Amino acid sequence: MSVKTVGVIGSGQLGRMMAIAGAPLDVEFVFFDEALSSPSSSFGPTIQPSSKDALASFLDKVDVVTYESENTDAELVEKIATSTPVYPSVKSLRFSQHRLTEKTLFNELGIQTAKFERVASEADLDQAIETLGLPLILKTTTMGYDGKGQALVKTLDDAKTAWNSLKGNELIAESFVTFSRELSIIAVRSTNGDIKIYPLAENDHSNGILRVSRVPAQDVSTEKQEQAERFISTLLSELDHIGVLTLELFDTETGLVANEMAPRVHNSGHWSIEGAYSSQFDNHVRAITGMPLGDTSTAHPHCAMVNIIGKFGDRDLVLSTKGAYLHMYNKTERQNRKIGHINIIAESEGEREQLIQKFEAFIKECG
Ligand code: AMP
Repeated sequence: MSVKTVGVIGSGQLGRMMAIAGAPLDVEFVFFDEALSSPSSSFGPTIQPSSKDALASFLDKVDVVTYESENTDAELVEKIATSTPVYPSVKSLRFSQHRLTEKTLFNELGIQTAKFERVASEADLDQAIETLGLPLILKTTTMGYDGKGQALVKTLDDAKTAWNSLKGNELIAESFVTFSRELSIIAVRSTNGDIKIYPLAENDHSNGILRVSRVPAQDVSTEKQEQAERFISTLLSELDHIGVLTLELFDTETGLVANEMAPRVHNSGHWSIEGAYSSQFDNHVRAITGMPLGDTSTAHPHCAMVNIIGKFGDRDLVLSTKGAYLHMYNKTERQNRKIGHINIIAESEGEREQLIQKFEAFIKECG
């Protein structure tokens, strides 16, 4: 059977960009979300989970299901999988939802991480401080994103404050990794096991939110690109993953250190819409509908992505700049909300930096 309709759990900007990529492939979309006016709503019908026979009517309309968030209800995914293929499978989703099992898996597969300890009591935290030393980072094992649900512990006093703010959740203490920069590697695996990998992205964050991604990352040794590719290929195969997978990494003197993965298209891969021969959205749609994968190499020597966060900013500046592409998500302005992004393509590193500089107000102004 040729797959034609993709069901997406969620209806945010990731679903929107999947649907835009799916249109030329003759793939249609249906969204499963309470919000009726959302970034995706003009790209296909939305079924509200609270409506009568919602799941049955959603599944009736779709050939395959995917999702936008690692916080998607894993039980819902498991239930759907009994009648309809869901990609990535619940195995990828569950590992991505739990920092302890995720990091344990990484280590079992020879993927280096920060040292870590499970923390279920204040005594465990004291013990973790003994074992890992200070500073460390205390994080909830589940539901953390954009730096939420975590605290930096530099002193014993900080430990008390961190414990008081996070107690009641299952926690993980991680040793503090000294890194020169943050990188991510994005790859896609098809239903027949083919794997394609994008070049490493270099990611600048502020207040825990991604601001700028540069691709390819500056001055990456062949060794590090190969190490990242080895990590992500190992994970894709081990998880029998179908679709896009993202791995966030720290660049350190002793090599790459994995932080976390996301079983989905990722903000640090948005550059690929104009920057790569086949974007992460195009490739995700191809993978989950059983089509051959597209080329993941850069179509331009130097690419970047600048997030538009909080405020619309000077959109005409973007529209009148050669090499800049505006992507808005049909969202309203709100502090810390990702409402769009600017993609940049350039012929040289210098030109790329100039263009990023030109859009500095977007990086600074965002609230
Ligand atoms: P996370 O929620 O795990 O993605 O963490 C959010 C941010 O906190 C990361 O992007 C890093 O900048 C920082 N971070 C997280 N874990 C560590 C760590 N073990 N050592 C140093 N920095 C970290």
